[in-house]
Amino acid sequence: MTKADIGLIGLAVMGQNLVLNMNDHGFKVTVHNRSADKTDEFIKGQAAGTQVVAAYSLPELVDQLAAPRIVMLMVKAGAVVDQYIEQLLPLLAPGDMIVDGGNSLYTDTNRRTDALKQAGILYVGTGVSGGEEGARHGPSIMPGGNPQAWERVKPILQTISAKVNDEPCCQWVGDQGAGHYVKMVHNGIEYGDMQLICEAYQLLTDGLGLTAEECAGVFAEWNQAELSSYLIEITANILAYQDSDGQPLLDKILDSAGQKGTGKWTGINALELGIPLTLIGEAVFARCLSAMKDERVRAAERLPRTLKRFDGDKAEMIAAIRQALYASKIISYAQGFRLMREAASEYRWTLNYGDIALMWRGGCIIRSAFLGDIKQAYTDNPQLENLLLADFFANAMQTAEAGWRKAVMTAIELGVPTPAFSSALAYYDGYRSARLPANLLQAQRDYFGAHSYERIDQPRGRFFHTDWTGRG
Ligand code: NAP
Repeated sequence: MTKADIGLIGLAVMGQNLVLNMNDHGFKVTVHNRSADKTDEFIKGQAAGTQVVAAYSLPELVDQLAAPRIVMLMVKAGAVVDQYIEQLLPLLAPGDMIVDGGNSLYTDTNRRTDALKQAGILYVGTGVSGGEEGARHGPSIMPGGNPQAWERVKPILQTISAKVNDEPCCQWVGDQGAGHYVKMVHNGIEYGDMQLICEAYQLLTDGLGLTAEECAGVFAEWNQAELSSYLIEITANILAYQDSDGQPLLDKILDSAGQKGTGKWTGINALELGIPLTLIGEAVFARCLSAMKDERVRAAERLPRTLKRFDGDKAEMIAAIRQALYASKIISYAQGFRLMREAASEYRWTLNYGDIALMWRGGCIIRSAFLGDIKQAYTDNPQLENLLLADFFANAMQTAEAGWRKAVMTAIELGVPTPAFSSALAYYDGYRSARLPANLLQAQRDYFGAHSYERIDQPRGRFFHTDWTGRG
């Protein structure tokens, strides 16, 4: 029997679909799963008639692989990955590779890459995005880790990835956990995009009184131009979907959001690196607030409010909401890319932001035409300090600003919460303020804690302290 090109451990939805994708592209895959019944089910079901082979133990899996061996893990992130690494280690030889395609925390991947390097095993931690559809037909793949592994895993990963204009949405991201880091930021941005769409939806329905069907039409139209994206497209489809009684199914879904933690990780990292990531932060908190359903119901009784109905020009306001969505989205990506720039400097990674935009351009949940504009901005200037400073985005912000402000003001007047639209606008105004009120903040710090301050009429780096209560 010919040896397999790659072994994959973890036959849940992502693993199964990746295996079928690899098989479609001519790669021979051997598979293993903790629960053997799932392996059997897969081999006899979806993988029937393919060249996929089953392995019921790790020695069997490793034995079926061509050298140098590539073992890919698609299992629950966390301790399970460490357990598999521990079990695989005695079975592998120097030069063999372990690829973790789950949503592992980048610091775990840093640790694993370094530890396995000592044992001569080349470790790759890769983000895989696009859900089960992406995994089956072409995901966005963000690999990082030991660079020596790249030439070996590249043909498989690039071949099964999504393509945009024939370019694979899979490029080497960087050392250690860089791939998982970029995937984490991708997920944070996904949280932001989803929250922005939800705010537009609530303004259109609760604020302007549009029906789900009318709202579906608005999103379908928005999907034709600058907002064109997978998430806008599925939102239009979701709004148009009717339950068996002919009513919108969406209206019957409990308004309590779940989350698995990658948005939270992105926010925590932004706090650690001291980079404002306000939009993703608001998106995570909005999910948390939604999950406090019972408490919100009690608060709604104790603190009743009357939602005002918009009585102005609806078409004009719909156009303003579209601008709010577009401008806020630009802020979110500008913040996300700024965070990655800081991480690259802090963790000594060389990140190619144009490649990252291209990797997200297809295959993944945040895929959009807009990412092509980001790719272009970094192609024009790879050293770009902030996306907001690229001509294309600076012009787009200036064009959208009036409508954006109008949408936020209207939301405030009507009582519709738009935390992401509003905080994005506050960031925009703060970012382009040559002077912020931090002079007062520094004075307060000096007043109560003698933390000292710099003066604008003296060179930077000279610090002063005032005895604030001693005079005047
Ligand atoms: P999952 O539900 O995250 O994990 C299930 C797999 O992990 C199964 O193969 C399961 O084996 C194995 N597993 C769980 N606990 C185990 C343990 N204690 N020991 C050994 N094996 C264990 O599956 P998934 O949704 O396909 O995701 C796989 C990875 O991809 C995860 O890291 C996930 O975060 C990431 N990811 C998921 C998506 C998505 O859309 N679902 C998208 C991108 C990335 P058994 O069958 O024996 O339980």
